[in-house]
Amino acid sequence: MITKIIQEENVIAVSKLISDAGKIIIVSHKRPDGDAIGSSLGLYHFLKSQGKEVSVILPDAIPGYMYALPSADTIVFYDNQKTKAQELIDKCDLIFCLDFNALDRIGNLSAPVNDSKAKKVLMDHHLHHDNFCDIIISHPEMSSTCELVFRLISRMGYYDAMPLESAQCICAGMMTDTGGLSYNANRPDVYTIMGELLKKGVDKDALYRKIFNNYSENRMRLMGYMLYEKMKIYPEYHTAVLTLSYKEMLRFNYQPGDSEGFVNMPLSIDHVFCSIFIKEEKECMKLSFRSQGDFDVNKMANELFGGGGHKNASGAENKGTMEETLKIIEEALPIYI
Ligand code: 5GP
Ligand code: MN
Repeated sequence: MITKIIQEENVIAVSKLISDAGKIIIVSHKRPDGDAIGSSLGLYHFLKSQGKEVSVILPDAIPGYMYALPSADTIVFYDNQKTKAQELIDKCDLIFCLDFNALDRIGNLSAPVNDSKAKKVLMDHHLHHDNFCDIIISHPEMSSTCELVFRLISRMGYYDAMPLESAQCICAGMMTDTGGLSYNANRPDVYTIMGELLKKGVDKDALYRKIFNNYSENRMRLMGYMLYEKMKIYPEYHTAVLTLSYKEMLRFNYQPGDSEGFVNMPLSIDHVFCSIFIKEEKECMKLSFRSQGDFDVNKMANELFGGGGHKNASGAENKGTMEETLKIIEEALPIYI
């Protein structure tokens, strides 16, 4: 038996919004990860099976290995399909906002979503959500937004009707947001839900291989380079920092998603409980923070750079150079750790 997490009134309200809607849009955050894509496509397949006209709109590209998920090729990307995305938003009755807690997390997509008159439902597991939706289903204790999507569909009474494609996408996001069930995965419900997904016919092992063992040779070599040449350890602060410049990305023919998971690697070193990855992007430095145990990287990401996420996994952006960004971190380590 799975514990009831989503409030009954929210289940009833969302169920009615879905019944009343013909055209539905699903949006998720910038640099979409497995949970953003999995929850969006998981819900997409369910709503499609209910006869709805549904589109997933994401701010920017998804990693290549995520095309393993069914209908990933139907996703509309706002950064290069603005007109199409705007038309879809203008015509829709209902917008699901999945796996983000504040409108700035969807970048340029935030204005059209904010301006839309459609009803909005937030489903998310990040800390401290903003109030930009009519219905808010926010549960930071969940492994993933995918887990919430499973719970919502089941609670609305559609477990039996849930298509296999939904179950596959939900399973993928639950795996990626928990590092293959290695963190945020201590609640028994996570395994009960995994069991229910397997009963639907999901080939979890094959899905795992497609997502986690599907990298390019370039990515593997970049990983080796990062660990050998670029990982800086601060033993007195139990912290590791990795940096990746645009020039280095060019050298390894970097593709979106190629540095996914790099930030987790230093945590397998004894005594390292905080890991920070700084990557140069077009308009900013993108930071990823990871920790183990009680050390709260959400606080660090938020106070130093205005970012956020979860206690053990957070992110942020910084407008300064790589050197400036690194300096902020180095000066902060003695204070935070
Ligand atoms: P990642 O390091 O994988 O990009 O992100 C880790 C977590 O932090 C994710 O849950 C993500 O949603 C959140 N996150 C990533 N970047 C940002 C950011 O720029 N701002 C905020 N508030 N959260 C972020
Ligand atoms: Mn997530």
